[in-house]
Amino acid sequence: MTNPRATTPVLIVGAGPVGMTLASELARYQVPLRIIDKTPQRTDKSKALVVWSRTLELFDRGSGAKRFIDAGFKAHAVNFVAGDKTIGHVAMDDVESPYNFALMLPQSETERVLEERLSELGVAIERQVELTGFTMRADGGDAVLRHPEGREEQVAVDWLIGCDGAHSAVRHGLQAPFTGVTMGADFMLADVHMQGYPFPDTEIAIYWHREGILVVFPISPGRYRVIADLPPNGGEHPATPTLDEVQAILDRRGPPNLRASDPVWLSGFRINGRKVSDYRHGRAFLLGDAAHVHSPAGGQGMNTGMQDAFNLAWKLAMVVRGVVSGPAGDKLLDSVSPERSAVGEQVLKAADRITEIGTLHNPVAQTLRNVAAHLALGLAPVQHAVIDRMTEIAIAYPHSPLNGPHGASGGPRPGERVSPAPGQPPIGAGDTPRFTLFAEPTDAARDLTRRFATIIEPEIRPPLAKSGLWLARPDAYLACSAKDAQAIAAYLDNLTRDERSSH
Ligand SMILES: Cc1cc2nc3c(=O)[nH]c(=O)nc-3n(C[C@H](O)[C@H](O)[C@H](O)COP(=O)(O)OP(=O)(O)OC[C@H]3O[C@@H](n4cnc5c(N)ncnc54)[C@H](O)[C@@H]3O)c2cc1C
Repeated sequence: MTNPRATTPVLIVGAGPVGMTLASELARYQVPLRIIDKTPQRTDKSKALVVWSRTLELFDRGSGAKRFIDAGFKAHAVNFVAGDKTIGHVAMDDVESPYNFALMLPQSETERVLEERLSELGVAIERQVELTGFTMRADGGDAVLRHPEGREEQVAVDWLIGCDGAHSAVRHGLQAPFTGVTMGADFMLADVHMQGYPFPDTEIAIYWHREGILVVFPISPGRYRVIADLPPNGGEHPATPTLDEVQAILDRRGPPNLRASDPVWLSGFRINGRKVSDYRHGRAFLLGDAAHVHSPAGGQGMNTGMQDAFNLAWKLAMVVRGVVSGPAGDKLLDSVSPERSAVGEQVLKAADRITEIGTLHNPVAQTLRNVAAHLALGLAPVQHAVIDRMTEIAIAYPHSPLNGPHGASGGPRPGERVSPAPGQPPIGAGDTPRFTLFAEPTDAARDLTRRFATIIEPEIRPPLAKSGLWLARPDAYLACSAKDAQAIAAYLDNLTRDERSSH
């Protein structure tokens, strides 16, 4: 039976971490939406284990980072071990973020926290509802949803957002190429209890053994995630290890006397490195694993996807709420793909590189790697570069089409992250997507916030350097800076001008 047509402004397909992040951001901006998922419940697997500093900063604008932190466990350092020697120790204490740690939180818990937050915002995930087909036009589209009892629903949508994972139906429907490679190694993953871990329970360890890599992440006191590469098994799927096989690898590659027990989850995986080139296809977007998949080395997959969602949310909210419309709205939404695709590209390359370095099998190359890493990881600038990348506070949009001029002396440059100042509310908080002005509260600055009241926060914050004005986007990246208020006004005029109405 086919239902009469219903209309929805935003249809989010997939209630994984990325779909739920997008839904919670859009809901706080009061954008009407539906979010569907074909499975009966959220994952019970620990999959993505780390929520990084930048993701927590971005959550702080809406859901609040505290709810994640309360559920998780803080890791403060990463150790690199070759043979029986610790050749590097990188601490996170100096990361310039209120969240100077790696938050260890199994994906099942991350999803629980997100689902609870959605429910507070009045959004219910429609479960066992599957997108089975759709067609898109210039002004929207039609989607077909299958309900659990077999009923088919036709729904007219203004925007269709594919957060439906690596095998995305939205991506297939859009015929968007997902180019890349499957790497020639299998990995085993074990979520186990362990005794005999030689580092503090708050530190990660990467063991570079001549046979391959072994990585140990603390999950909670006494519980760990263990990952190791294995020779490809030649089959269609990588093998799931037994506890004895996990123990055998720990015995060979790990420190003495490490004993695993009580497995929570044992799995095998094979690495794909694939990405779409365009995240936007007219009125459809692809985010998260639907747009990019890569090696879990570096633990960036879920975080990158969530940040795709943060990036789209404020732009789509401005368009759906009519703050920016016509070609200006299109221009705003067109910036999602170049900004996020560049980040996806970097993450893919870095994950491949980390995987290659960790899984070198040539003994000469291994020795060179160990010596080079020992030297480099002893240098403070290298340590900072590694950790700023890992925690994702180094993410920036230097080539964004949204970047305006940099006229102020000092402070962040357009496209760079604006770090949250201690004691101030997060940039971009609240129920309206608005820019934040940093300046001396002169008459000209006040006029600016009044003239662009729908798009700038009323409160002016202290300057970010000695002299000038700085305008931060709702996702806390710098839009532009200037010596005077006119240049900021020109930027906002340009951003919001609907060229159709000015002719
Ligand atoms: C073993 C393993 C370990 C990992 N470790 C890490 C890690 O350490 N760090 C990290 O950052 N990432 C890690 N990842 C990756 C991480 O799990 C993913 O990046 C993350 O889940 C992506 O989130 P997503 O919301 O984009 O997609 P998913 O979590 O895949 O969610 C997609 C959702 O869409 C739904 N769906 C699909 N098709 C349809 C349809 N047609 N209709 C309705 N619903 C649909 C699915 O049911 C699913 O719930 C790991 C993954 C695996 C498998």
